[in-house]
Amino acid sequence: MRERLRRLLSVVVGWTLVLAPWSTALSQTPGPQTQAPAQLTLHAALQLPYEQLFALAPTLSFPSSAFKSERSMLQKGETACRRRFKADAKDYAKQIEQARKQLKAQGSRLSNLDRHNLHCRIQNLDLLRSEAEVLAGQGIPTAYDNLAAKLDLLQYWPAQYAQARRELASGVYRQRRWGDVQDIGFRQIAAGQPDDIKRGQQAIEELRRSRLLPPDLPNADIQRYVNEIAQRIARNSDLKIPLHVVVLQSREVNAFALPGGYLFVERGVLEEADDEAELAGVIAHEIAHDAARHGAKLMKRATIAGIFYQAAQVAAVLLTGGVAGAGLYYALQYGFYGLGLVINLNLLGVSRDFELQADQLGIQYAWKAGYDPEGFILFFDKMATKAGYIKGVSWFRTHPPFYTRMVNAQREIMFLPAHKQSIVQTSQFLEMKQRLAPITAAAEREDEDKPSLLISREEGCTPPRKIEYQPGQSVEQLCAGAQTAPAGTR
Ligand SMILES: [Zn+2]
Repeated sequence: MRERLRRLLSVVVGWTLVLAPWSTALSQTPGPQTQAPAQLTLHAALQLPYEQLFALAPTLSFPSSAFKSERSMLQKGETACRRRFKADAKDYAKQIEQARKQLKAQGSRLSNLDRHNLHCRIQNLDLLRSEAEVLAGQGIPTAYDNLAAKLDLLQYWPAQYAQARRELASGVYRQRRWGDVQDIGFRQIAAGQPDDIKRGQQAIEELRRSRLLPPDLPNADIQRYVNEIAQRIARNSDLKIPLHVVVLQSREVNAFALPGGYLFVERGVLEEADDEAELAGVIAHEIAHDAARHGAKLMKRATIAGIFYQAAQVAAVLLTGGVAGAGLYYALQYGFYGLGLVINLNLLGVSRDFELQADQLGIQYAWKAGYDPEGFILFFDKMATKAGYIKGVSWFRTHPPFYTRMVNAQREIMFLPAHKQSIVQTSQFLEMKQRLAPITAAAEREDEDKPSLLISREEGCTPPRKIEYQPGQSVEQLCAGAQTAPAGTR
């Protein structure tokens, strides 16, 4: 067992006892309590991060009836929660209509202040309606998918873990796809990588022309640092064309590689990563997409024209404040999200197989470059568990299905020869974080002023409180939360 896991396990065991008293109270699982008193309930276990669950699962045992009832409880919870936010959205729509009627009925009799207040009210209600729609359509399903994946993990991982250990002992694991890790860089993953360079350049030109690419992050040291990590991983990968790396000034937690070795890392990734191994895990995953030529393969299906048609729609919203889908409308309020949605869905994210391939290869590359490959899982985990589901939604929507991905990633890590020492944290990473902090703060101040520039028509309104997942918050808490009132109307 790896150092990191061992450390985690000891923390978890410590926690289990602390958690037990309230976790029993929290759980609404019906039926007899068959677990030992000091053991976590199934429902409480679902709140733990994936990596802890991987370590814990083989030591826990729940009757199959418990899994069954928990599963049905999750389904009911999701249905109820989505229904709630759909109803909220309808309610906001009704309120908007009322406000519009008032505006029309009172027409020229309204004072300037009353008119301003009504405009603000409509604008804020519209924002809340979009927010509720996105939660019902995306945020909530994603959160519940995640809980279901953890339930699967608890139920099925122990047997799969035992199986993986048998494969390890018998040597069968070497026959897995791309099991020849000692030949990374000399084996052929996908022929014709150089053919992608032109395609990638064209895509970037189009993106720039449509003003869809956020600006470069204005700090040469951070750019250099991220570039160094990426180049180190590229040298230890199956990518045989030059890699170009740019950090973008965007709070989106996303990274993407355009065909031909063009890697973009958005600022949000640097903010969310806690150590260099996590950052390396994300970068390695994206390099793997390029090494395996996934973008090129997908672009054959989704034509470039189709991609840029959608991109142009995003641009239209950005530049004119025109009407677009609720998701986009909402997303843009939170910074530069349109890009991730467009790029990932069309270029990289639509294939489940490709994601699994990029996970496997990415883990191999991070490992070969000397990193702790568990960094990838930890980052993924964090995105699923604690970071706002909306904040990370573009990366997530394009990266299903949780359970298969986590299990495959964990198995691959088991099969890689352990390094005597692997890189987790570096002083350069911590320096980068220090340099990043003021840049993030400045950008956030600017982002706060930005919504008015993007879609608001009425200036000087106090925006409503955004409904966002807070770190450590469970989806149930979010679902139980009260409807937000449209502030700024008085
Ligand atoms: Zn991917």
